[in-house]
Amino acid sequence: MNTRRPLIAGNWKMNGLAADAATLAGDLAKRLRGSHNPSFDMVVCPPYTNISTAVEAAQGTALAIGGQNCHDAEKGAHTGDISAAMLADARCSYVITGHSERRTDHGETDGMVNAKTRAAWAAGLIAIVCVGETETQRDAGQTLDVIGAQVAGSMPDGATAANTVIAYEPVWAIGTGRTASPQEAQDVHGFIRQQLTDRFPEQAGGMRILYGGSMKPGNAAQLMALADIDGGLIGGAALIADDFWAIAQSSGQK
Ligand code: PEP
Repeated sequence: MNTRRPLIAGNWKMNGLAADAATLAGDLAKRLRGSHNPSFDMVVCPPYTNISTAVEAAQGTALAIGGQNCHDAEKGAHTGDISAAMLADARCSYVITGHSERRTDHGETDGMVNAKTRAAWAAGLIAIVCVGETETQRDAGQTLDVIGAQVAGSMPDGATAANTVIAYEPVWAIGTGRTASPQEAQDVHGFIRQQLTDRFPEQAGGMRILYGGSMKPGNAAQLMALADIDGGLIGGAALIADDFWAIAQSSGQK
């Protein structure tokens, strides 16, 4: 029996205008307001332009708001970027670092993810650090080597259960409708837990490791029941309040 409180995290990616964010965050906020002592934490990560709208809709509820990325510098000549301090100032409490779409679309390396994660902590944010293998790497039997290297490189020294969440997201499962089987997922989550235990012995037992990759109401309970899965990072299904809420409810069956 572990004491890790499940985290249900929604990554809205580049979706929605302000009115959509108000409706979606407002709907989740209303459900949280109406549920006594939910057994999970919930955060949604809107596009930057909708953060203030989501913050306003979530006000007075347990719904937390996060960014989808941050720069590693506090400020400066970085056109188009946002610092962790700016996210904190906008009343975010989380930020996703190293999402596979950032790694692929923007060439983010483990070293960059490590620096962004440190910047997140410096601003008082909780970092959701993403790792995951491609299909080619899995087929070549390299999954644990790839994940091991990503966790080692992306997680800075000083990670704690309070300032960091890991998200294991097999790249081949993101947005594809394919999910890792429970065995595949637990194998990687257990491996990550062991790696964290070796490096952060005091913290690893309390660190949350989320699964991400086509998590839906129909598969969430089975995944979240596994020993080392402590919630989900959800993309597509996070845009539908009923689905996101249903996934959150499944975390209670742990
Ligand atoms: C994600 O973007 O992190 C994700 C897991 O997306 P999806 O749930 O749509 O696969």
